[in-house]
Amino acid sequence: MKLLENKVAIVTGATRGIGKSIAEMFADQGATVIFTYVSSEDKAKLLESELLSKGVKAKGYKFNVADFEPCEGMVNDVVKEFGSVDVVVNNAGITRDTLLMRMSEEQWDEVINTNLKSVFNMTKAVQRTMLKQRSGSIINMSSVVGVKGNAGQANYAASKAGILGFTKSIALELGSRNIRCNAIAPGFIETEMTGALDEEMVQSWRDAIPLKRGGQPEDVANLALFLASDMSAYITGQTLNVDGGMLT
Ligand code: NDP
Repeated sequence: MKLLENKVAIVTGATRGIGKSIAEMFADQGATVIFTYVSSEDKAKLLESELLSKGVKAKGYKFNVADFEPCEGMVNDVVKEFGSVDVVVNNAGITRDTLLMRMSEEQWDEVINTNLKSVFNMTKAVQRTMLKQRSGSIINMSSVVGVKGNAGQANYAASKAGILGFTKSIALELGSRNIRCNAIAPGFIETEMTGALDEEMVQSWRDAIPLKRGGQPEDVANLALFLASDMSAYITGQTLNVDGGMLT
């Protein structure tokens, strides 16, 4: 028996990195996988056919998750075509790193809207369907930076800390209807987002992590799978770190 058989899952930002790994793992476990992206059309086409080749239903949607209406439109489409929404992984995110002294209003707004407002947009969009079903799992991608803060990332840290407050509030609001909401706080995961960083600096980070390595997207996807499945039926309102012990 596969862990996500008969479940419809939406994963935002799945053309690369952590989101892609989650989409693949969910498909391996039998889920119908709906994924979103904003620009990588070729990667989206490839991912869609890869997921379909695993024998599940799959569909990619291109829009900006920072915009309210397309989120609602996509969810309405998904419910019409696939019948339900059981899992949402709010994964899409960006960085615009710089010290506060140099941070523009645009850099602030872009990060807050893409990382935090998107979580509101998607959760609002699926709420009605999940309430009717009396079930659902909402998984929000935060970061250790949201838990701890980080110099040069005030916008990103604020967006990721905001996600934690939102997650706990939604868990309280929707728990009585069997809708769970949890956050994942990854540490240093080696993806395109972190690939742009200086290798010497990255090695010093690896050395400082108790498990002595950067995380892989699959390390995060394993937790997303657990939170999406009924294995975590009694877990809500939590922030779970996937950081090799970084925050210990
Ligand atoms: P990547 O940069 O590798 O991938 C980001 C994904 O999000 C892409 O699929 C991208 O689509 C999509 N995306 C970006 N902006 C938008 C938008 N406005 N609307 C819709 N989709 C969008 O990121 P990672 O895999 O590294 O990170 C995934 C999540 O995990 C993020 O929320 C990040 O903050 C978080 N995280 C990552 C860590 C890490 O070390 N990598 C650590 C902690 C948290 P497209 O390809 O079309 O641009």
